[in-house]
Amino acid sequence: MNRANEICFAAEVTLGKLAKWLRILGFDTLYEPDVTSIGFVDARKKNRILLTRTERIRDRNTSQKLLFIKSNNPFEQLREVISALGIVPKETQPFSRCIRCNTRIRQLDKDSVQGMVPDYIWGTHDTFQTCSICRRIYWSGSHTKRSHDIIQGLFDS
Ligand SMILES: [Zn+2]
Repeated sequence: MNRANEICFAAEVTLGKLAKWLRILGFDTLYEPDVTSIGFVDARKKNRILLTRTERIRDRNTSQKLLFIKSNNPFEQLREVISALGIVPKETQPFSRCIRCNTRIRQLDKDSVQGMVPDYIWGTHDTFQTCSICRRIYWSGSHTKRSHDIIQGLFDS
């Protein structure tokens, strides 16, 4: 069973980098810069785990699954989430989700991408994906080696 399909999050405004990394790992992560109490209600409806660094929210919360994040460092925050939920590498689906808007990306024909990415990118890559909402196009090199290294490092202890 792959829990990446069922674990989902809502991140508050101060946790933008953490939200981006959770999306890179394939987790459905709601992040709106103006998440308010209304956003939290939505999060509760979808049974999302609320990620917060605000003690007032943690202390007022009674019904929602909530994870209080302690660190200021996005990488350490990500480790907090992984450790709190006991996430293991095979439960992640790296690079399966649009980093910008959280949508699942889908495979594209190479031919249909010509002219939509720089020629040298088109000529040197065979697999492309796109986000059907924001139309961003991804290819293997659009995720840097550094991202892969960081993901690797997450699970080394
Ligand atoms: Zn998108």
